[in-house]
Amino acid sequence: MKKLKFKDLNISTEIENAVADMGFEEATPIQSLAIPHILAGKDVIGQAQTGTGKTAAFGIPILEMVDPGDRNLQAVILCPTRELAIQVAEEIRKLSKYMDKIKVLPVYGGQPIERQIKALKKGVQIIIGTPGRVMDHMRRGTLRMGNVKLMVLDEADEMLDMGFRDDIEFVLRDMPRERQTLLFSATMSRDILSLTRKYQNDPEFLKVVHQELTVPEIQQVYFEVREKMKLELLSRLLDINNFDLSLVFCNTKRRVDKLVTHLQIRGYAADGLHGDMTQNQRDRVMSKFRKGKIDVLVATDVAARGIDVENVEAVFNFDVPNDDEYYVHRIGRTGRAGKKGMAFTFVSGKEIYQLRDIQKYTKTKIEQHQIPSIKDVEEIKTNKFLENVKHVINAENLEKQIHIVEKMMEEDYSSVELAAALLKIVMTRKKETPEPAADFGDTGASPGMVRFFMNVGRKQRIKAKDIIRAIGDSTGLSSSTIGKIDVFDKFSFVEVPEASASEFISIMSGSRIKGKSVNVEPANKRK
Ligand code: ADP
Ligand code: MG
Repeated sequence: MKKLKFKDLNISTEIENAVADMGFEEATPIQSLAIPHILAGKDVIGQAQTGTGKTAAFGIPILEMVDPGDRNLQAVILCPTRELAIQVAEEIRKLSKYMDKIKVLPVYGGQPIERQIKALKKGVQIIIGTPGRVMDHMRRGTLRMGNVKLMVLDEADEMLDMGFRDDIEFVLRDMPRERQTLLFSATMSRDILSLTRKYQNDPEFLKVVHQELTVPEIQQVYFEVREKMKLELLSRLLDINNFDLSLVFCNTKRRVDKLVTHLQIRGYAADGLHGDMTQNQRDRVMSKFRKGKIDVLVATDVAARGIDVENVEAVFNFDVPNDDEYYVHRIGRTGRAGKKGMAFTFVSGKEIYQLRDIQKYTKTKIEQHQIPSIKDVEEIKTNKFLENVKHVINAENLEKQIHIVEKMMEEDYSSVELAAALLKIVMTRKKETPEPAADFGDTGASPGMVRFFMNVGRKQRIKAKDIIRAIGDSTGLSSSTIGKIDVFDKFSFVEVPEASASEFISIMSGSRIKGKSVNVEPANKRK
């Protein structure tokens, strides 16, 4: 299935930038298919499974086609439920972040109609509504359809299942004839097709079809987990299994950055790859990776496609992918060359529906596992450790150590006490950072921080907030974790937590702040 970069879709810079802020790396298949047809003025029937980005597939072209200078209602989107109406409105608001004249309003039952009427009076170009409430507004004359150019039936299958057919037809009958009608749905039915025959004009039927792909023979499991728990779950699974190399997939660049930072703070040798990184940064990550300095590589689908990664023991779908095919590509990274591999998928909220589709598509059963408790993690780790102890007793020469133990026993300690104490020391030792935190010497920073010199300052019109923003964008470090910043005429200093210092210097040196190329060095201690 072809997938396009957003910049190949002929969309305005405003939307391109908004999409970049949302962290989308490339258009999903239904977006790649639908956007050009909608922009060309065609009626469209778009069929693709849940979670494949259908909202932006119509949201983006609608924003392109609505006239921001005209305050009249120009686009109407019908959704089956109030939750969906709110979600779609949210997504379109994010997409229109840089189009400040565009007003978007969800209208649904359950909210006082007076409030909606007041909001509508201010001039709204795009409404997203449930059929009943939209009808209600039409009857009251508070929604005027005379200038509507675009009409969307979103989640058409659900709307029909919920018995909205008459309401939908009521709304459609009142629309100007000269309009574009778009219909999106996860499934197709005779009912839907009869509706489209009646109300669409020579529609383009776009369906995301998948090529047959074979799923590798690996163990596939999933966990139902709250979004906030995903990081903790990942940590537990990494701790239990101690994989040499894991590949973790996120759906957006943003999420890759965030996850990498969190994993590093937790002491994992983790790094990330995505399309916003410069070639230099990517090369650096890949070289670390080849040298075995990374245990956990976090990537977007696009970034992972470009790299040759062998020996992956486990693939984690931190997010359920936006396309079934991605799932197969992702998990195909493990279990290569006859080795056994594992694939873990984290499912939160509605992602469960996408997982069902994936199982149907791949014709495999993905087994549900329960989230291991902290106690489980400890038990499993202890067992693994004791296995190792047994192995050492059986296979290695311990003469020297036995001698030391015997000496301790002369001091009246029992061997049981000794073993217990050693076990405690070893098992409670903090997870060592596999790559010892680079030593930057004394940089004159506050305790726990490293102070860096940057060769940009006031002369380049750079302020502390520009530095914070640039660091946040590139490394994912939040302003609260960044320490003291001093900006001088020609240079600046910034303090970063020790744990993130290596990462910081490797990402920030050679990067740009407000277009100025930046050189970063550990600071010299102030005299
Ligand atoms: P659908 O309507 O097909 O079920 P949605 O439009 O609700 O799917 O999108 C599902 C999720 O995928 C949303 O969180 C959305 O922000 C995200 N998404 C949409 N397009 C992309 C993209 N191109 N890249 C990454 N994530 C995307
Ligand atoms: Mg949808």
